[in-house]
Amino acid sequence: MRTFSDYLLFGSVPLPWWGYLIYTLVMTHITIVTVTVYYHRAKAHRALELHPGLEHPFRFWGWLTTGMSVKEWTAIHRYHHAKDDGPEDPHSPWVHGIWFVLFAGVILYYKAAKRPEVMMHCRDIADDWIETNLYGNRRKSRRFYGVGLMLIIDLVLFGFVGLAIWVVQMLWIPFWAAGVINGIGHWPLFKYFLGYRNEETTDKSSNIVPWGIWIGGEELHNNHHMYPKSAKLSVKWYEFDLGWLYIRLFEMVGLARVKYIHDQNVQKVA
Ligand SMILES: [Zn+2]
Ligand SMILES: [Zn+2]
Repeated sequence: MRTFSDYLLFGSVPLPWWGYLIYTLVMTHITIVTVTVYYHRAKAHRALELHPGLEHPFRFWGWLTTGMSVKEWTAIHRYHHAKDDGPEDPHSPWVHGIWFVLFAGVILYYKAAKRPEVMMHCRDIADDWIETNLYGNRRKSRRFYGVGLMLIIDLVLFGFVGLAIWVVQMLWIPFWAAGVINGIGHWPLFKYFLGYRNEETTDKSSNIVPWGIWIGGEELHNNHHMYPKSAKLSVKWYEFDLGWLYIRLFEMVGLARVKYIHDQNVQKVA
């Protein structure tokens, strides 16, 4: 018989410890796929188009687990590519320091979102009713209704353990994307013991590891700066881009249409 304190501690779905681990990894992995495929490759770089049947779940998941506005994310990211590692770069570790970007990169994100010269880079991102009214482009506080809803879901499912899972979910993108990719992915000193560059680019980007699995392929950050419009981030035969695998699967079932791939060197769709 479960007591009230059991419900408080473990919620309505008690799991063994590895069950919580699998749930957390699946949830955070979906968030990583949302950020790399939807926010980054489809919206910021327009490397592919997504069917509304896939775009809407991605938008919803981004709101539920990150609270990040597509417009802000796009503008800040495009500005990063335009100013790569120069003094204007919103999150270069060469400007802001590697430790600050790694552990507090999300602060740089919110600072950049307040700069008009940054925000003019998202004019092509359309505002529809959902984006304006529910996901918070009109009232910014609504952006965080999604992460609040996620907290309620985690608490109901897993009680106090769910709170810990939610904290991990909320820190996932600020650390792995805003921290590791924006920080270590631009810190070439790192190449002396782990990272590498396939080609000299004007910025200081570095591939972190050749197998882009944990962060969905974003680990191949030097390749991405070489071919920013490409939907595929792997370049060498031994490199692996998990985001690209998902995109190919989505394409096979008609949920995505790739517009540009670096190794074909052609624009597939105008
Ligand atoms: Zn970069
Ligand atoms: Zn990019």
